[in-house]
Amino acid sequence: MPQPTSSEPDWLDLIITVGHPNPPGQHPEDPPRRATVTTRTYRGETVTLELDVLARAPGHVQVAQPRDGQEPWKAWISSGDVLQPMLWQVTCPYDDQGLVGAMMTAAGRVVLYCDGDGHVWLEPSQVSYGSAIVPRSSDWRVVEGVTVTPGTVRWATAEDLPAAWRAEPWQVYSREW
Ligand SMILES: [Zn+2]
Repeated sequence: MPQPTSSEPDWLDLIITVGHPNPPGQHPEDPPRRATVTTRTYRGETVTLELDVLARAPGHVQVAQPRDGQEPWKAWISSGDVLQPMLWQVTCPYDDQGLVGAMMTAAGRVVLYCDGDGHVWLEPSQVSYGSAIVPRSSDWRVVEGVTVTPGTVRWATAEDLPAAWRAEPWQVYSREW
């Protein structure tokens, strides 16, 4: 049976690499993390895809786009094109503006982190005025063994949440990577 043929190049639907193809300051996402990406393809279309983020560098993230019968296409795109869900419960009790979200630390402990001013709490039930931990930017220490050093933390996924937290009424806010 004759196969349908296409005269189109097979790269038109690949997403466009922006910036340096091998940017400095790369930090692998290990394991890769799913993220919602809205970006452009070589066809010129704007697409929204759920992709694995493989690495990040200042201002950019590397994503893997699946391809039929081939290795995934790896592209560096602007970090502003990547949204990641942040799970949050309340606005900051100090200023009522920051969102207090679940943040995964390098130590593997999930803490509550205010995206406005960096207030930290250890448990959802502790989030109140006057009770925040305020990590210093010298060591970013929260408690022994736990830091919120920039570049080592990420917003927690639902799977990351301690079992006791999962019944809490989390809301989801999509924010830039
Ligand atoms: Zn705050």
